[in-house]
Amino acid sequence: MLAARAALEQVAGRGTVVPPELTAAVADGCGDREAVEAATRRVFGARGPLDLVLFDTDRIAEYVYESSLPPVIAGASAILRGLNGEIARRYQSQTIFSGGGEGLLLVERGRGAGICQEIEELYWTRTDGALGVTTHFLEVAPQDFIAKDAQEEEAREGVRLVSGTQAVLARLRDCIRRKKDEELPPFSPVQGSLPRCLSCRDRAATHPTPVAREGWAGHVLCSPCHRRWSAGKEEIAGVSFDELIERLQEHYPKLGAKSAYTGFLYADGNSMGALFGRLASLAEIGFLSQAVSHVFEQLAERARREAGEQLGRIEHPRRLFLSYLGGGDEAIWIVPGALAVRIAQELPGWLSQEVQAIPGLPEFLRLREVADLTLGIGLVLCSHSYPVRYQYALAKELQKNAKQMFYGGAHPTPPSSIDFELLTDSSPLVDDLRDARELAYQTEEKGFLRTCRPFDQDRFDQLLKRMQRAREKSVATSQLHALLAGAGESRRLFLNALRYQIARPPAGKRYQEWLCSLGTPWVDARRVESFFVQELPPDGEGPRAGTWIADGVQLLAFLNQLGQLGKEAR
Ligand SMILES: [Zn+2]
Repeated sequence: MLAARAALEQVAGRGTVVPPELTAAVADGCGDREAVEAATRRVFGARGPLDLVLFDTDRIAEYVYESSLPPVIAGASAILRGLNGEIARRYQSQTIFSGGGEGLLLVERGRGAGICQEIEELYWTRTDGALGVTTHFLEVAPQDFIAKDAQEEEAREGVRLVSGTQAVLARLRDCIRRKKDEELPPFSPVQGSLPRCLSCRDRAATHPTPVAREGWAGHVLCSPCHRRWSAGKEEIAGVSFDELIERLQEHYPKLGAKSAYTGFLYADGNSMGALFGRLASLAEIGFLSQAVSHVFEQLAERARREAGEQLGRIEHPRRLFLSYLGGGDEAIWIVPGALAVRIAQELPGWLSQEVQAIPGLPEFLRLREVADLTLGIGLVLCSHSYPVRYQYALAKELQKNAKQMFYGGAHPTPPSSIDFELLTDSSPLVDDLRDARELAYQTEEKGFLRTCRPFDQDRFDQLLKRMQRAREKSVATSQLHALLAGAGESRRLFLNALRYQIARPPAGKRYQEWLCSLGTPWVDARRVESFFVQELPPDGEGPRAGTWIADGVQLLAFLNQLGQLGKEAR
């Protein structure tokens, strides 16, 4: 690895040969600890010859989503990406990875403190102090990266003791975490006489309006928001979500119900922490970090292409929505609702294809008993007037919910999964999703629910296909609601009422055609039951099952829109 050799040679000085086993120890974590330690002493003396620097951005989500103005949100992501890129360029030969607001650098002893300060200053100047970064460095020696004997790594009293590279990184991360805990959140009181920034509403407005707009006069933006606006305005074709939606509706006037809804889509890689925790060397960590970042960038690119195909009537359709790469293993979009549903459906497949496309990555994962990279996805479909920071918080909770369905389970590689929620204008702002859902979807029978969320990727795909077919067979939304007539009481009553509805002419004919077209003979009671009722992962109190009809109905308007978009694009 370049960084290891460069730093060691720098410390050793001109004319001194650095034994290759020292470079191998740092980069690959391999070698004989004692021999490497002796060689290190011989060449470098008693002190560690290297500084290992870690930086980690503070409160990224607040920085990106504190505003509901698309140019500011777009600018925040652009600035954050720029910071990672600039650090990687500035310290090119010293960077092990730099992405997703994080990074690891290896430099010669004595430079760590200076680099930490440079990175902090870079963040300050690029964001006018609105985005912080926590940095730390450790003085390290080549032998520190070599793990002790395998036996010592066995768990002791349930605690897995790590040594070598993982131990060095754990120490660094602990220091960063402690520093973050001690730090107070930034606070900039606004003097009573000054107008507040209408983007973040937290700071004093000190900059004039960047565009002519009704009600925007005098100073409207604070300096960090002004900076983000400038960085993001070219990336997005509107000043507000209102304008973006209007543009969509102008070009696609027949979108129908919920055409003013956006989707906040939050996708996060599964089990990434555990995977990184199993890596034994800086070289492996560097490889996987870069591979994962690349894979997620490609997902963003595929989503942009999908937008181009779906919104073919609009010039520069990419500029109609926001795409934001958060950490190296997460991606976030704010897009028209229909597009969000489509992207959510495609993401797991895209991810697998991108993993396959990186030389060495499938093999790298297989050796670590990971079959594939998968995602937890949270999707909030709502009127675009909901505050973006609220959408973010809810999407994050849904994303965690989706992941949770596989916690502690028998899945060495959990499949991708998704949880979603439709907020209508009458939906209350939810503080506790779990409580709210219990209220909405519980039935009188314990263990039977009127929802099947969260879905794994196959079930979600199946749900969308079933609803798609319902559209084709002209099963109306009201008819789908009618099927839920008995669902409030129990599974048995639900199925009785359901079978009655399906068999009863003349309305039953649509249901019958729908079921038959999906290979379910409507006269077969057991087949109808297994069509409409899904067994769910058991909770602490026993087995659970649910029906997905209400879940499907939430998505129906967006499938209708996709039909319109696809049709008009052709
Ligand atoms: Zn502001």
